[in-house]
Amino acid sequence: MYNFDFPPFIYIDFICVLIIFIISLVSIKSKRKEFVLQNSQKIQKVKDLNKKYVFYPVNPSYTYIKRCVSKKEYDRISLYDALCDDIIQHTIFYKDLINSVNHNKKQSNIYNNEYQKILTSCNDVENELCENNRFFKKIEYDLCDSIRLSPNTSTTMHVKKSYVSPQGRKSYETYHDYNIEELSSCYNNAVNKIKETKTKKENMKYQREIMTDSLRYDVMKRDGFKCVLCGASAQRDGVKLHVDHIKPVSKGGKTELSNLRTLCERCNFGKRDKYDPYGAN
Ligand SMILES: [Zn+2]
Repeated sequence: MYNFDFPPFIYIDFICVLIIFIISLVSIKSKRKEFVLQNSQKIQKVKDLNKKYVFYPVNPSYTYIKRCVSKKEYDRISLYDALCDDIIQHTIFYKDLINSVNHNKKQSNIYNNEYQKILTSCNDVENELCENNRFFKKIEYDLCDSIRLSPNTSTTMHVKKSYVSPQGRKSYETYHDYNIEELSSCYNNAVNKIKETKTKKENMKYQREIMTDSLRYDVMKRDGFKCVLCGASAQRDGVKLHVDHIKPVSKGGKTELSNLRTLCERCNFGKRDKYDPYGAN
């Protein structure tokens, strides 16, 4: 049988030797690193290259959660439409994000090319050093890699919709990860929607402005100062007459004689409820 019980001083000696070994190893390593840092032209070139490029901060992924207030809303709204709505609410954020990703993608292509050129370049001084010190190249490569810029050139938009019933009995959830191309396409759609709404609003404002007293009089005169629906007249029945857009302004109706008619207050409100819930006409 072997006896493994060494006297205690042997352990202590062993540990001391190990510590000395580790310390000298670390010291050699740091000296080598220091030497490479002082003599490498490539590292200096990479540092100079880094100064020439600006990259924007982009997270690898972003999350948008649409919390629906009812099951009906959950079923109705698509993930794409939910994302589109959020883009309309936060246009600047999405614009910056898409621009930053595109900028990083474009610039990092050029940067990487230049970086590779530096790495593969050779000069006499370095060749000499490399031959004298076989660790030089490896350390230099690692150091270059550690200072190399690596911006995010893509991102993912994690869009989730969810609905939890009262008391939390039932919960629904679905999601889709939009890549930058899908996100850009959704962004363009949202921007078009904003433009359309703006044009529509401007047109509505204009159509209301051109409704003059003179035009109003012409319409009533044409209709015999009577409601065209129920025949009530201001003079005989004492009703208040309105001039109404047949096709509401909110739906693209124009302020012109052919689209205007005389209505009494009652018929007008009845009509309004039916065709134009926003009372925009
Ligand atoms: Zn009427």
